[in-house]
Amino acid sequence: MTLAGGCLCGAVRLQVTGPLGPVTACHCTQCRKVSGHFTAAGPVARSDLRVEGPLRWFQSSPGARRGFCPDCGSYLLWDDGSDTLYLSAGAIDGATGQRLVGHIYVADKGDYYDIADGLPVWPQGPDDGSA
Ligand SMILES: [Zn+2]
Ligand SMILES: [Zn+2]
Repeated sequence: MTLAGGCLCGAVRLQVTGPLGPVTACHCTQCRKVSGHFTAAGPVARSDLRVEGPLRWFQSSPGARRGFCPDCGSYLLWDDGSDTLYLSAGAIDGATGQRLVGHIYVADKGDYYDIADGLPVWPQGPDDGSA
């Protein structure tokens, strides 16, 4: 399985040579700011990810950084240094082969929309036990 993707202007290209995991929507304050709304991303193994082009990293919190295109601003990757990165689902070209499975950090979501797709919602992360 190989997925290709990239940013809006095409300067940064991504290739994933393994599966993309289930996509989660994140409504946290950082994702609101970085996207202008909320983000949707799925896990990929670090060893499966190839990046070409001028990807730039922003240290968004002490333990995590966000990768974006310095030319067009597309938000592409979230990286906490572990073996798994989160790839923005919308950056993938064509079909992702995945579905949205839930919403996290809903406690921080904007007041201008409702979540009404029937999927699980978590006030914080998916491990906070409140699903
Ligand atoms: Zn770009
Ligand atoms: Zn978030």
